Amino acid sequence: MIKQKTNQKPAFNPAAQKDFTRTPQVLNSPVSQDAVRISSLGAFGDVTQNMFVYEFAPRGDFSKSEIIIVDCGVGFPEEDAFGVDLQIPDTTYLMDKKDRILGIFITHGHEDHIGAVRYILPILGNNIPIYAPKLAVAFIEARLTENQIRASVNVYQPGDVINKGRFIIEPIRVTHSIPDTYHFAITTPIGTFYHGSDFKFDVFPLDNKPSELKKIANVGNRKVVALMSDCLGADHEGYSPSERDIAENFKHQIVGAKGRVFVTSISSNIVRWSQAIEYGKSTGRKICVVGYSVDKAINIAKELGYIKLADTDIIAPERAKNFPDNKLLFLVAGFAGQPDSALSKMVMGKHRVKIKSGDKVIFSSPDYIPGTTSNIYEMIDVLSKMGADVAYGDKEELHVSGHGYQKEHALLISLTNPHYLLPIGGNYRHIKGYFSMAKTMGFGDDQFITPDFDSAITFYANGKMDTNFHIPMHKVLIDGLGIGDVGATVLRDRKTLAEDGMFSVMMMVNKESGAMFKEPIILSRGFVFMKENTDLINYLKEEVVRKFSEVTSKPANFDYIRTEIQAYLETIIKEKTGREPMVLPLVIEV
Ligand SMILES: [Zn+2]
Repeated sequence: MIKQKTNQKPAFNPAAQKDFTRTPQVLNSPVSQDAVRISSLGAFGDVTQNMFVYEFAPRGDFSKSEIIIVDCGVGFPEEDAFGVDLQIPDTTYLMDKKDRILGIFITHGHEDHIGAVRYILPILGNNIPIYAPKLAVAFIEARLTENQIRASVNVYQPGDVINKGRFIIEPIRVTHSIPDTYHFAITTPIGTFYHGSDFKFDVFPLDNKPSELKKIANVGNRKVVALMSDCLGADHEGYSPSERDIAENFKHQIVGAKGRVFVTSISSNIVRWSQAIEYGKSTGRKICVVGYSVDKAINIAKELGYIKLADTDIIAPERAKNFPDNKLLFLVAGFAGQPDSALSKMVMGKHRVKIKSGDKVIFSSPDYIPGTTSNIYEMIDVLSKMGADVAYGDKEELHVSGHGYQKEHALLISLTNPHYLLPIGGNYRHIKGYFSMAKTMGFGDDQFITPDFDSAITFYANGKMDTNFHIPMHKVLIDGLGIGDVGATVLRDRKTLAEDGMFSVMMMVNKESGAMFKEPIILSRGFVFMKENTDLINYLKEEVVRKFSEVTSKPANFDYIRTEIQAYLETIIKEKTGREPMVLPLVIEV
């Protein structure tokens, strides 16, 4: 799911954090024994963009390795990423191994586990089979169809055993904040690896489908080499609250409302939509779904039977005005305050459904999503100001974490009985919490694996392991439709523009004589308010004229003039104002 992330690209070893340029090393395994290498293409220590590579090398020969991939998710860039939409795992490491990839196995339908399929599958090969649970398959297929990508997407179920080369993959159902979530027992010739992606052990799940604890215990009876475990909740003691714990509060909010009710959440939060619909219907409200992503998710869930919603229960947004306020329940996209979302548009009065005084707006979602926190609170403030009654977050117990706390982790560790522990999907504080908890269970430091963000962990048949191998890793950013076409320069430019604005000077110059025609024209955006700074602008204009006379020639060299004027302006603007706007001189031939 969408989760917390620190500002920096996190790494287990803070000292290695900024070193994204390290070249991969090729290390031969100590002796020719079978080996399994696990790498994280979205970086170890990163919560989102989950994508793990399991590689089996017969007699340690990685040129003959067999590969399976677990998950293929997107990341969410931080607040200062200036319009970059998404981040995806770096697949460079796999480029010369594409023909050895036997399958992509998906644990569950959250975006940070499936969202990159549509970008990465065409890179690695559309023929690679994907295996996913029912709900995730529906989400993936919807996206692939939108992007006109044909792929082989297969549904797995509890009890299935999938053989791929030397790998045996067994899905094990667990509970999480989305139905149909699984762990994998991945058996190789050197032992079993337990891939424990996002989970909690909710013993009273709302969909009555508990975690398959007995099956986990069975896996624990074999030789489990390592447990890769979600650790996002590992800095919390005890057990995480059950979905059932918040059901009462949530119900109370909806049933007790006098006017219109608006519920917003992560679009894939099928359980919450289903609850909202049930409580809405019980009070005679019609359900009105607003926003593409929620509409799509609810339709998929309805078709698969996760949500009970008859056509007569639903009304289209344009018909809402025909119903009394207390007979309406809106399910709305845009809990994170995304500017183009339905909720933002409603708040700004740009939607046919407008928020008014007396409405109740329920945010049943985490309020700490990276890159969105300030947007969420801004929206809550605006809504409150408009007279809406806003209920939100953990405060009013309208959201529970989908990630287990320490006692649930202790249980998973006891059941799987692994030799090594490798926490994934958490930041440093979660990893620390995880290890200190495991210590109290008798685990020693030599059993904790702490890779750098770009390390791969190689396990050998003799039970040893090392983290010496590094894979190539850069940030791959998606901006609009392009993959990886936003580099460091674009980001830096956007940062400059956002912080100090832009200052542009236009000079009309006769190429032959090298003379400037009329005086330079100054344009600025976000730098200084031009009307209030006529002195500064006039000074800069004069300086441009003076500098121009020094750098022009017969005939004029436009490139030279541009560079010199730019450098000079940057210096004097910094001197005069202490700011560093983006300076853009334009030389136009007249
Ligand atoms: Zn998740």
